[in-house]
Amino acid sequence: MARSVASKPAGYDWPDSGKPGRDCPRCPRLVAYRQECRAAHPDWFNAPVPSFGPLSAQLLIVGLAPGVMGANRTGRPFTGDFAGDLLYETLSRYGFANGKFDARLDDGLVLSDCRITNAVRCVPPENKPLPIEIATCRPFLQETIAEMTRLRAIVALGAIAHASVLTAFAARKSVHPFKHAGKYDLPFADGRNIAFFSSYHCSRYNTNTGVLTTEMFRNVFAKVRDFLDNQLPKRK
Ligand code: SF4
Repeated sequence: MARSVASKPAGYDWPDSGKPGRDCPRCPRLVAYRQECRAAHPDWFNAPVPSFGPLSAQLLIVGLAPGVMGANRTGRPFTGDFAGDLLYETLSRYGFANGKFDARLDDGLVLSDCRITNAVRCVPPENKPLPIEIATCRPFLQETIAEMTRLRAIVALGAIAHASVLTAFAARKSVHPFKHAGKYDLPFADGRNIAFFSSYHCSRYNTNTGVLTTEMFRNVFAKVRDFLDNQLPKRK
Protein backbone atom coordinates (compact mmCIF):
# COMPACT_ATOMS: atom_id res chain seq x y z
CA MET A 1 0.00 0.00 0.00
CA ALA A 2 1.22 3.50 -0.77
CA ARG A 3 2.42 5.66 2.10
CA SER A 4 0.47 8.79 2.83
CA VAL A 5 1.57 12.16 1.50
CA ALA A 6 1.94 13.36 5.08
CA SER A 7 4.50 10.70 5.95
CA LYS A 8 7.33 12.89 4.61
CA PRO A 9 9.36 10.41 2.54
CA ALA A 10 13.02 10.19 3.55
CA GLY A 11 15.32 12.57 1.77
CA TYR A 12 12.81 15.35 1.29
CA ASP A 13 13.67 18.77 2.58
CA TRP A 14 10.28 20.11 3.59
CA PRO A 15 9.73 23.83 3.30
CA ASP A 16 8.24 25.86 6.15
CA SER A 17 5.12 26.40 4.08
CA GLY A 18 3.65 25.40 0.74
CA LYS A 19 4.85 28.63 -0.80
CA PRO A 20 8.33 29.09 -2.26
CA GLY A 21 9.68 32.63 -2.04
CA ARG A 22 9.92 34.80 -5.15
CA ASP A 23 13.66 34.13 -5.28
CA CYS A 24 13.60 30.39 -4.49
CA PRO A 25 17.19 29.31 -5.28
CA ARG A 26 16.78 25.52 -5.47
CA CYS A 27 16.90 24.92 -9.25
CA PRO A 28 19.93 26.72 -10.76
CA ARG A 29 18.81 26.35 -14.38
CA LEU A 30 15.36 27.74 -13.61
CA VAL A 31 16.81 30.54 -11.51
CA ALA A 32 19.01 31.54 -14.47
CA TYR A 33 16.00 31.51 -16.80
CA ARG A 34 14.01 33.55 -14.25
CA GLN A 35 16.79 36.16 -14.24
CA GLU A 36 16.77 36.27 -18.04
CA CYS A 37 13.01 36.80 -18.05
CA ARG A 38 13.25 39.52 -15.38
CA ALA A 39 15.89 41.35 -17.39
CA ALA A 40 13.94 41.10 -20.64
CA HIS A 41 10.45 41.66 -19.18
CA PRO A 42 10.63 43.49 -15.86
CA ASP A 43 6.85 44.03 -15.91
CA TRP A 44 6.12 40.27 -15.93
CA PHE A 45 5.55 38.17 -12.79
CA ASN A 46 8.77 36.11 -13.31
CA ALA A 47 8.69 34.10 -10.04
CA PRO A 48 7.37 30.80 -8.67
CA VAL A 49 3.66 30.87 -9.45
CA PRO A 50 1.43 30.42 -6.40
CA SER A 51 -1.53 28.05 -6.29
CA PHE A 52 -4.89 29.54 -7.24
CA GLY A 53 -8.17 28.81 -5.48
CA PRO A 54 -9.41 28.23 -1.94
CA LEU A 55 -7.48 26.10 0.54
CA SER A 56 -10.80 24.56 1.55
CA ALA A 57 -11.38 23.07 -1.92
CA GLN A 58 -12.18 19.40 -2.37
CA LEU A 59 -10.50 19.32 -5.80
CA LEU A 60 -6.87 20.03 -6.67
CA ILE A 61 -5.71 20.26 -10.29
CA VAL A 62 -2.00 19.71 -10.88
CA GLY A 63 -0.46 21.06 -14.06
CA LEU A 64 3.11 20.72 -15.25
CA ALA A 65 4.77 24.14 -14.97
CA PRO A 66 4.07 27.79 -15.82
CA GLY A 67 4.23 28.77 -19.47
CA VAL A 68 6.62 31.61 -20.20
CA MET A 69 3.92 33.82 -21.75
CA GLY A 70 1.19 32.42 -19.52
CA ALA A 71 1.45 32.03 -15.75
CA ASN A 72 5.05 33.23 -15.70
CA ARG A 73 3.87 36.51 -17.22
CA THR A 74 0.60 36.96 -15.32
CA GLY A 75 1.30 35.17 -12.02
CA ARG A 76 -1.81 32.92 -12.06
CA PRO A 77 -1.81 29.27 -13.21
CA PHE A 78 -3.09 28.71 -16.76
CA THR A 79 -3.64 32.43 -17.29
CA GLY A 80 -2.36 34.12 -20.42
CA ASP A 81 -1.75 31.24 -22.79
CA PHE A 82 -3.85 28.77 -24.74
CA ALA A 83 -4.09 26.00 -22.12
CA GLY A 84 -6.17 28.21 -19.84
CA ASP A 85 -8.92 28.74 -22.39
CA LEU A 86 -9.94 25.09 -22.41
CA LEU A 87 -9.26 24.54 -18.70
CA TYR A 88 -11.30 27.46 -17.38
CA GLU A 89 -14.12 26.94 -19.88
CA THR A 90 -14.35 23.35 -18.66
CA LEU A 91 -14.16 24.29 -14.99
CA SER A 92 -16.98 26.80 -15.48
CA ARG A 93 -19.10 24.21 -17.27
CA TYR A 94 -18.84 21.81 -14.31
CA GLY A 95 -19.32 24.41 -11.59
CA PHE A 96 -15.70 24.71 -10.46
CA ALA A 97 -15.26 28.33 -11.62
CA ASN A 98 -17.48 31.42 -11.54
CA GLY A 99 -17.12 34.61 -13.51
CA LYS A 100 -15.66 35.36 -16.89
CA PHE A 101 -12.16 34.11 -17.68
CA ASP A 102 -10.35 36.83 -19.57
CA ALA A 103 -6.74 35.65 -19.17
CA ARG A 104 -5.93 38.52 -16.80
CA LEU A 105 -5.33 38.54 -13.06
CA ASP A 106 -8.08 41.12 -12.62
CA ASP A 107 -10.71 39.33 -14.72
CA GLY A 108 -12.65 38.51 -11.54
CA LEU A 109 -12.63 34.73 -12.13
CA VAL A 110 -13.17 32.81 -8.89
CA LEU A 111 -12.66 29.08 -8.39
CA SER A 112 -15.32 27.16 -6.52
CA ASP A 113 -14.31 24.09 -4.47
CA CYS A 114 -11.27 23.83 -6.74
CA ARG A 115 -7.61 24.83 -6.52
CA ILE A 116 -4.92 24.76 -9.21
CA THR A 117 -1.20 24.27 -8.76
CA ASN A 118 1.78 23.08 -10.81
CA ALA A 119 4.22 20.21 -10.29
CA VAL A 120 7.00 22.73 -10.97
CA ARG A 121 6.42 26.30 -9.83
CA CYS A 122 8.95 28.09 -12.05
CA VAL A 123 8.87 28.41 -15.81
CA PRO A 124 11.25 25.96 -17.51
CA PRO A 125 12.91 26.72 -20.85
CA GLU A 126 10.85 25.25 -23.71
CA ASN A 127 8.22 24.06 -21.22
CA LYS A 128 10.45 21.13 -20.29
CA PRO A 129 11.45 20.76 -16.64
CA LEU A 130 14.26 18.32 -15.90
CA PRO A 131 13.62 15.31 -13.63
CA ILE A 132 15.81 16.86 -10.93
CA GLU A 133 13.73 20.06 -11.07
CA ILE A 134 10.48 18.12 -10.74
CA ALA A 135 11.92 16.30 -7.72
CA THR A 136 13.32 19.48 -6.19
CA CYS A 137 9.96 21.26 -6.42
CA ARG A 138 7.96 18.28 -5.16
CA PRO A 139 8.06 19.27 -1.48
CA PHE A 140 6.03 22.34 -2.41
CA LEU A 141 3.50 20.09 -4.15
CA GLN A 142 3.42 17.81 -1.11
CA GLU A 143 2.85 20.74 1.20
CA THR A 144 0.08 22.06 -1.06
CA ILE A 145 -1.65 18.68 -0.90
CA ALA A 146 -1.13 18.31 2.85
CA GLU A 147 -2.55 21.74 3.71
CA MET A 148 -5.86 21.02 1.91
CA THR A 149 -7.76 19.41 4.77
CA ARG A 150 -11.00 18.89 2.76
CA LEU A 151 -9.23 17.47 -0.30
CA ARG A 152 -11.07 14.52 -1.89
CA ALA A 153 -9.96 14.52 -5.54
CA ILE A 154 -6.89 15.37 -7.62
CA VAL A 155 -6.72 15.77 -11.40
CA ALA A 156 -3.25 15.53 -12.92
CA LEU A 157 -2.82 17.19 -16.31
CA GLY A 158 -0.30 15.14 -18.26
CA ALA A 159 1.98 12.21 -17.51
CA ILE A 160 4.63 14.24 -15.69
CA ALA A 161 2.16 15.75 -13.24
CA HIS A 162 0.62 12.28 -12.83
CA ALA A 163 4.00 10.79 -11.92
CA SER A 164 4.87 13.63 -9.55
CA VAL A 165 1.60 13.23 -7.64
CA LEU A 166 2.22 9.49 -7.35
CA THR A 167 5.68 10.13 -5.95
CA ALA A 168 4.24 12.69 -3.53
CA PHE A 169 2.02 9.91 -2.19
CA ALA A 170 4.87 7.37 -2.39
CA ALA A 171 2.60 5.35 -4.70
CA ARG A 172 4.09 3.03 -7.33
CA LYS A 173 3.90 4.11 -10.96
CA SER A 174 3.82 0.48 -12.13
CA VAL A 175 0.45 -0.09 -10.47
CA HIS A 176 -0.93 3.36 -11.33
CA PRO A 177 0.01 3.88 -15.01
CA PHE A 178 -0.99 7.14 -16.68
CA LYS A 179 -4.19 6.85 -18.65
CA HIS A 180 -6.47 9.60 -19.93
CA ALA A 181 -9.64 9.67 -17.78
CA GLY A 182 -8.11 7.04 -15.51
CA LYS A 183 -8.93 6.99 -11.79
CA TYR A 184 -7.13 5.50 -8.81
CA ASP A 185 -7.50 5.75 -5.05
CA LEU A 186 -4.56 7.17 -3.12
CA PRO A 187 -4.56 6.84 0.68
CA PHE A 188 -4.18 9.99 2.74
CA ALA A 189 -2.71 10.37 6.22
CA ASP A 190 -6.04 10.49 8.06
CA GLY A 191 -7.56 7.47 6.34
CA ARG A 192 -9.36 9.28 3.52
CA ASN A 193 -8.91 7.96 0.02
CA ILE A 194 -8.11 10.66 -2.48
CA ALA A 195 -9.65 9.97 -5.89
CA PHE A 196 -6.84 10.50 -8.37
CA PHE A 197 -7.92 11.31 -11.95
CA SER A 198 -5.64 11.95 -14.91
CA SER A 199 -6.00 13.71 -18.23
CA TYR A 200 -3.89 14.55 -21.19
CA HIS A 201 -2.58 18.07 -20.70
CA CYS A 202 -4.81 20.74 -22.24
CA SER A 203 -1.90 22.23 -24.20
CA ARG A 204 -2.24 23.75 -27.64
CA TYR A 205 -0.07 20.95 -29.02
CA ASN A 206 -2.35 18.22 -27.67
CA THR A 207 -5.53 19.88 -28.87
CA ASN A 208 -4.11 20.81 -32.29
CA THR A 209 -2.91 17.26 -32.89
CA GLY A 210 -6.15 15.68 -31.72
CA VAL A 211 -4.51 13.90 -28.79
CA LEU A 212 -7.04 15.71 -26.61
CA THR A 213 -10.45 16.87 -27.78
CA THR A 214 -12.77 19.21 -25.89
CA GLU A 215 -15.10 16.27 -25.34
CA MET A 216 -12.34 14.09 -23.89
CA PHE A 217 -11.35 16.86 -21.49
CA ARG A 218 -14.93 17.51 -20.42
CA ASN A 219 -15.37 13.80 -19.80
CA VAL A 220 -12.68 13.88 -17.09
CA PHE A 221 -14.33 16.76 -15.24
CA ALA A 222 -17.78 15.24 -15.64
CA LYS A 223 -16.41 12.22 -13.78
CA VAL A 224 -14.89 14.41 -11.08
CA ARG A 225 -18.17 16.33 -10.68
CA ASP A 226 -20.10 13.07 -10.38
CA PHE A 227 -17.60 11.72 -7.85
CA LEU A 228 -17.80 14.78 -5.62
CA ASP A 229 -21.59 15.15 -5.91
CA ASN A 230 -22.77 11.56 -5.86
CA GLN A 231 -20.07 9.20 -4.64
CA LEU A 232 -19.02 10.82 -1.39
CA PRO A 233 -20.89 10.59 1.92
CA LYS A 234 -22.73 13.88 2.46
CA ARG A 235 -21.14 16.21 5.02
CA LYS A 236 -23.26 17.18 8.02
S1 SF4 B 1 10.92 25.08 -9.50
FE1 SF4 B 1 10.29 25.00 -7.37
S2 SF4 B 1 12.10 24.33 -6.21
FE2 SF4 B 1 12.80 24.97 -8.27
S3 SF4 B 1 13.42 27.13 -8.01
FE3 SF4 B 1 11.26 27.14 -8.65
S4 SF4 B 1 10.03 27.14 -6.76
FE4 SF4 B 1 12.14 26.58 -6.22
